[in-house]
Amino acid sequence: MENFDVVVVGSGPGGYVAAIRCAQLGFKTAIIERYNTLGGTCLNVGCIPSKALLDSSEHFYNASHTFKEHGIDVGSLKVNLEQMIKRKAGVVKQTSDGISFLMKKNKITTYFGHGTFVSKDTVEVALNDGNKTTLSAKKFVIATGSKPIVLQGMEIDKKRIITSTEALEMKEVPKNLILVGGGVIGLELGSVYARLGAKVSVLEYADSIIPTMDKSLGKELQKSLTKIGFEFFLNHKVLEVKNKGKEVLVKASDKAGKEVQFNGDYCIIALGRKPYTENLGLDKAGVKLDDRGKVEVDENLVTSNENIYAIGDVIKGAMLAHKAEEEGVFVAEKIAGQKPHINYNLIPGVVYTWPEVAAVGFTEEQLKEKGTKYKVGNFPFKASGRARASMDTDGFVKVLADEKTDEILGVHMIGPRTADMIAEAVVAMEYRASAEDISRMSHAHPTFTESLKEACLDATAKRALHI
Ligand code: FAD
Ligand code: NAD
Repeated sequence: MENFDVVVVGSGPGGYVAAIRCAQLGFKTAIIERYNTLGGTCLNVGCIPSKALLDSSEHFYNASHTFKEHGIDVGSLKVNLEQMIKRKAGVVKQTSDGISFLMKKNKITTYFGHGTFVSKDTVEVALNDGNKTTLSAKKFVIATGSKPIVLQGMEIDKKRIITSTEALEMKEVPKNLILVGGGVIGLELGSVYARLGAKVSVLEYADSIIPTMDKSLGKELQKSLTKIGFEFFLNHKVLEVKNKGKEVLVKASDKAGKEVQFNGDYCIIALGRKPYTENLGLDKAGVKLDDRGKVEVDENLVTSNENIYAIGDVIKGAMLAHKAEEEGVFVAEKIAGQKPHINYNLIPGVVYTWPEVAAVGFTEEQLKEKGTKYKVGNFPFKASGRARASMDTDGFVKVLADEKTDEILGVHMIGPRTADMIAEAVVAMEYRASAEDISRMSHAHPTFTESLKEACLDATAKRALHI
C-alpha cells in the first residue's frame, strides 16, 4: 500500500489542477486516471478537440465564402477531413503530453487505471497493465467527470447515432446531419459540419436554442447559423432515434403534440451530460449522491465523508472546464487550511460558434424573476469599425446594470471574439464596477472590445457615441 497526503481520482481539468495546486502547497500527491492519457473529457474528447475542428472548419468556410470579398481568389477548394481529424489528434496529444509534463514537474505520482474506494480512506486501482495497487491518503478529491445523457429509444450505435465523442472522429462529412438538442455541444459540432457543407437540422425541446442563456443570444445565434446551413425545429421533443442502415430516422412531437419525422445520414445526440460515478465504491467510502445522481457536497466541496472532496462535472453547477479548475484550486487550498473563495455567479459561459456567444452574471430573465430593477445598454457589432473591417458584423453586446447604482449585473455578447472579450466583463464585475467605470476607460481603437465600452455608455446614460 502506498500512502499519500492527497489522492485525486480523475485527471480532467478539475483533477489535474487540484493535483498541481496540492503539490504546490507541499502535499505528497497522486492522481488516478482510468484512460491511458491525462486531461479527461476536456482535453481528449471535449473542449480542445472540438475547438481544433471549429478552427479548421472556420478556415474552410472563410476560404470558400469570404476570401473572394477580401480580394483573395483561391480557386476550387476541397475538404480533407482525414487531415483535419489528424491535426486535431495532434493538438490533443500535445496538450495531454503537456499535462504529463506538469505531473512530473510537480512530482505527482500518476496511476493509469480505474480507482475504486474500498474503505473510507483507501482506493484500489485496477491498473491498465493488468496489475492492482492500493493507495491510502489523508484526503481524497473525486473528479470523475461526466458522460452523455442517453434517453430510452435513442440508443447510441456509434455509427450513425453518435455522441460528441464520435462526432470528433467522422470519416465523412454528413450530408444531412440531425442534432438532437440545441445546446452547446450540438451547435458547436453542428457548426463544424455545416461549415464543411452539411445541411444541419436542430431539434430542440425548448422554445429557443441555448435556452439557459439570455434569450436574446439564442435568437441572434439562430439567425446567424441559419445563414450557414442550419435549420431549426424548436419546441420539438425527440422521442425516438433509429438506425435504418444508411439513414437515421428521428421521431419527435412538435409544439402541437403532433408526431413528426426527420431523416438524415447521421444524428448527434447532445441532450446534456450526467455525473460519472460508475464502480467508484462511493458506498464503501460513505459518500452520498444527491437526487440527481451528483456527488453531494457542502459549500466547502466536502462530501458526506469529511476527508473526501468532490469537484467539477460530478457535482452540482455548470459543467465547464474552468469551473472544474477553480474548484480544483479551491479544494487544494481548503485542505491546506487557507480561505479560498469562488464566485459562481461570475463563471463565464461561452459557445464557440461563429459568431461566438459569451455571457457572465445574471440574464434579463433572471433579473425580472428576482424583481431587480435594471437598465439595459446595447451595442450592435455592425456599428463597430473593427467588425466592419473583418466582415463580422452579426451580433451585439448587451450590458445589464442596476437601475440605481449602475453596478454591472450581467453582460451578454454575441459576435466576433466575444469568447475572449468576456474576460473584461468578468474582471469588471469581480471588482463590482459600474457601467460608467467601463465607459470611462480607454479601449484601444479599433478593437471589438470598444463594443463593450459602447454598450456600457448606453447602459449608464444612453450616451453611446457610435449609435
Ligand atoms: P472530466 O474532464 O470528465 O475528467 C474526469 C476524468 O476522470 C476522466 O478522464 C475519466 O476517465 C476519469 N475517471 C472517471 N472515473 C474514474 C475512476 N473511477 N478512476 C480513475 N479515473 C476515473 N467546457 C468548457 O469550459 N469549454 C469548452 O469549450 C467545452 N467544450 C466541450 C466540448 C465537448 C464535446 C464536451 C463533451 C464537453 C465540453 N466542455 C467544455 C465541458 C468540459 O469538458 C467539462 O466540463 C470538464 O471536462 C469537466 O472536468 P472534470 O475534471 O470535472 O471531468
Ligand atoms: P446542453 O444542456 O447544453 O443542451 C441540451 C439541450 O437538449 C437543451 O437545450 C435541452 O432543452 C435539449 N433537450 C433535452 N431533451 C430533449 C429532447 N427529448 N428533445 C429535444 N431536445 C431536448 O447539453 P449538451 O449540449 O449536451 O452539453 C453538455 C454539457 O457540456 C453542457 O452542460 C455544457 O456546459 C458542456 N459543454 C460546454 C461547452 C462550452 O463551454 N463551450 C461546449 C460543449 C459542452
